[in-house]
Amino acid sequence: MASDSGEQLAAMPGDWERALAVVAHPDDMEYGAAAAVAEWTAEGKQVAYLMVTRGEAGIDGLEPAESARVREAEQLASAGKVGVASVEFLDHRDGVIEEGVPLRRDIAAAVRKWRPELLLTINHRETWGGTAWNTPDHRAVGRAVLDAAGDAGNRWIFPEQLESGGVGPWSGVRWVAVGGSPEPTHAVAVGDVAVERAVASLAEHRAYIAALSDEPVESYARSFTEWIAGLAAERFGGRRCVTFELYPR
Ligand SMILES: [Zn+2]
Repeated sequence: MASDSGEQLAAMPGDWERALAVVAHPDDMEYGAAAAVAEWTAEGKQVAYLMVTRGEAGIDGLEPAESARVREAEQLASAGKVGVASVEFLDHRDGVIEEGVPLRRDIAAAVRKWRPELLLTINHRETWGGTAWNTPDHRAVGRAVLDAAGDAGNRWIFPEQLESGGVGPWSGVRWVAVGGSPEPTHAVAVGDVAVERAVASLAEHRAYIAALSDEPVESYARSFTEWIAGLAAERFGGRRCVTFELYPR
């Protein structure tokens, strides 16, 4: 995913307390960013997850309603392994998420509720690099997160959320960080403990992984997580890391 251009990556900002990750599917955070989340929560930062779908179209052999039930439970277990404070689910349709006002409205509501300084999402770009085409759900959600970071601060956008009480506008998002981007700019160093927690976190997606690989779940989760953590090390002083494309605001 990370490009192999020789340019060094900058360190991700660390002067924040609350992050909200908004991604399309259960498993999106575990395929790459979970080791960074493990580092952050170990430092006492608060990280919450918002899933735009329940991943109901993710397992070929399971009917959507059953798949949603299984994958929701797997996501909760998975987030627990890296110290995530909260996991919530929206009910957009897996596989056919529409980028548009209803999605921005839901994300803005979550931003106004959690008041994060850092918003996380995964790759909004067309490819993962080269000709590896990204999925429409990731593109739609990533772009909507970048948009909703601004919407949340404007009291005249989705004003009904403010009138119904409980939340105010939130213009405190300082960065949107996009994981898995083919054009990373920043990275977070991840130590052995964080990588182990990320392996455990990915391995919680048991039914999902079992449906796509013959490899035992633990060994699949370990090889993927260690591969990702090493991918951009040459661009980050030889340290294992998780990369992000950072959009300061
Ligand atoms: Zn996904």
